[in-house]
Parts: sequence; structure tokens; C-alpha cells
Amino acid sequence: MVVELVSVGTELLLGNILNTNIQYLSEQCAMLGLSVYHQVIVGDNRIRLAEALRMALGRSDVVILGGGLGPTEDDLTKEVCAEVMGFALKEDAHTHKRIEEYFKGSIYKEITSNNWKQAMVPEGAIVLDNDNGTAPGLILEKDDKRVILLPGPPAELHPMFKKQVFPYLKKLQPEIIRSQMIKICGVGESQVEDKLLDLIDQQKNPTIATYAKTGEVHLRITARAESEEEAKKLIKPVIKEIRSRFGDFIYSVREEETLEMAVVKLLLKYGLTVTTVESCTGGLLAGRIVNVPGASEVFREGFITYSNKAKRKYLDVSKSTLKKYGAVSEQTAKEMATGGVFAADCDACVAVTGIAGPDGGTEEKPVGLVYIAAYVKKKVTVKEYRFKGDRNKVREQAVVKALDLLRRSILENYR
Ligand code: AMP
Ligand code: MG
Repeated sequence: MVVELVSVGTELLLGNILNTNIQYLSEQCAMLGLSVYHQVIVGDNRIRLAEALRMALGRSDVVILGGGLGPTEDDLTKEVCAEVMGFALKEDAHTHKRIEEYFKGSIYKEITSNNWKQAMVPEGAIVLDNDNGTAPGLILEKDDKRVILLPGPPAELHPMFKKQVFPYLKKLQPEIIRSQMIKICGVGESQVEDKLLDLIDQQKNPTIATYAKTGEVHLRITARAESEEEAKKLIKPVIKEIRSRFGDFIYSVREEETLEMAVVKLLLKYGLTVTTVESCTGGLLAGRIVNVPGASEVFREGFITYSNKAKRKYLDVSKSTLKKYGAVSEQTAKEMATGGVFAADCDACVAVTGIAGPDGGTEEKPVGLVYIAAYVKKKVTVKEYRFKGDRNKVREQAVVKALDLLRRSILENYR
């Protein structure tokens, strides 16, 4: 079943507000197994709104409109829909009463005449009560088409959708959609796609979608099926195939599991404690680890050693290394990681040193150059990265790579 989403409001076209309703509605439709092929934004304009609705009705089974149900002159979604679909408007006594009740409990005691406009509904419409405002939602049915009108404020739209529209749509399409995530770190998006090209080309059910995140690629495997078990059955072999292609690059197959959670899980599994030593990331890395509930089992302290002096003071990085190779170097990263293990008396350490920019880069050591070292089981692995992007982007990427290097070093040495 094909759904089209139409957001109504000139403020959306002007960029005054972010169209969060569209994200919410799209997500909900996906959960229901409904296909959203078009999303349209149209201003508070009678002619263009009518045109958008006609177009939507021509190519979709269900049209969901958000916004333009308010009491003011510029709100005309209901009027336009009634006109296009050939329904007359008449007063709905139930809604009239609800508006009265609503105002009784409100600080605005006086009901202005334009409020009664909201009690007018197209004949034969299903009225959706609004528990959080005055404008009711509406469902209009004609032939095999359905038009659903929802109030614009998210605080009204969300609960109305969840409580009344979701069950209505679910009845229209009993088929469900289930998806599973595969989270990959250490392979670029284009490489991931390349490795999956054959699967993506032949995909129908389930489908594979790739999402690029900072330093990570997420794959969403989505199946349509009559039941939960059937969906699982469809997804399972695809996950298995993808696992065989990416191996340890996959850090999780759970939607809610973040990279830092996967790292903490591994540390717990092998009974290891870890410390962090950070220069350019200035605590971001430790912050990510501490994000994980229960991190205290594996993480006791971390170091922010921004200056050379601090690197010497806390980590005992040698003066000659700093002088000969510089603070941003493989050698310094190595000594930082080793120094961290001893300073914190723990099993593992991950160290980051780099040039986040915008200043401080040279031809030999440009902005974005970062060395990351992981000390695991008395072995230090150092990697050099050349990140692109601004200061924040460089730091964010460094944190992801640091977590991943730690993760892979643990796997290599303890599994
Ligand atoms: P309306 O029903 O058009 O009068 O919308 C009332 C208010 O709802 C607007 O002023 C916005 O604050 C909010 N709103 C409308 N459409 C959206 C949308 N697509 N996403 C988020 N908020 C919205
Ligand atoms: Mg509006």
C-alpha cells in the first residue's frame, strides 16, 4: 500500500521550522509496512494545496496531510480536501462540544468565533478526537482512497497518530515490516556497497539499505512478511551472508548497541580494565566510554595530556621522542599508550594524538593527521590516519577509530 505524506505550512517552506512531523510519520509508516514514495511540502495556498492533493491521490492509496487545521484564515487543509473530494462541510456536534469543554479547562476562557470553524467536518468523515488541542483530525474515505488530516503541532499529531491512525492503518495492511541493523566500522561506505552489490542488485524482500555515519556504516535489512517469525526467517540468511563478507568489521547486529557499548562488552567479557590517553580529542574518547552504563567495571581513569609537558608528567613520554619525532607521531602515540597502562595500572590503553586544526598543520604534518595507539596484552598497535573535515569532524572521527582499534586489538589478542 502506497502512502504519500503532505506537510502543509508556509513556515516549512521558509525554513522557519524543521519538518519533524515528516520524520515521525515516515518512520511510523515504515513500521507499518507501508511504502512512502513521495513526501511533499506545500504552503498555505488553496490552489497549490489542491494540486498537491490531486497529484497524491493519483499515485497513492493513502494521503496523510499534517498542518493547516487550525482556526485561522490561513489554515485551509480541511476545506481544500473536502472540495477536492466532493464532500460538503457540516458541523459536528460532538466536536463542537469538545471544543467547549477544552476551553473550560483552558486559560483562554473566551471562545472566538473562528474556533467554531474547527467543528466543521466533511460529511461522512471519521473524526479523530484531539486530546491535546482543539482541531480534530479527520479520515476521509472515497472509493479506494483514504485521506488523513492531522493537526500540525507535534504534541497533537504524535499522540493522535499513535492512538487512532496507527490502528486504522494497521487494519488496512496486515503485512508487517521488520528490520535488523548491521553495524560496521573500519570500512568506507562505497567499499561496503561494492562488496554487497550483488545482494543489493537482487534485493526485493528483504531489502538492504546503507547509512553512512561518522566512521561507521550501518546496514538495515528490512523484510515484509505476514508474521514476525516469517520476517525473521527472511532476514536470517542475509545477515549470515553479510557476516561472512565483513567478519570482524561488524561490531554489532543490534540497533541499540553503540560502538562504545560493543567495546565495553568485550572488555567485560575478557575481564580487562582500560584507560584512555587523549591529546587532540580532549576527553571525548573517555566520554564515549563513560556513556555506557556499567563502564565503571572496566574504566577507572583517563588522561587528557594536551601539552608536551603533560605527556611527560603523567605518561613519562621521553623528552627525546617528543623532540625528535614531535607530539604528533607514531613514536609518541606508542609511548603515550604504554605510559597510560602504567600510570593507571590497568590492562589496556588507547591513546590519541593528532592535529585537529584549523591551525598547526604543516606540509609534512597536515591538519587531520592523527596517530592512534592501542596497548593490549603487552603489544602496542599504532595506526596513522588522515582525516578530512573541520576540527570537530577530525576529533569525532579520531574517537571512532580509537574505539575501533581498541575493539579489534582485543579481538585479535584474546579471542
Ligand atoms: P498548523 O496546523 O499548520 O497551524 O500548525 C501549527 C504549528 O504546528 C506550526 O506553527 C508549527 O509549530 C507546528 N508544525 C506544523 N507542521 C509541522 C511539521 N511538519 N513539523 C513540525 N512542526 C510542525
Ligand atoms: Mg499552518
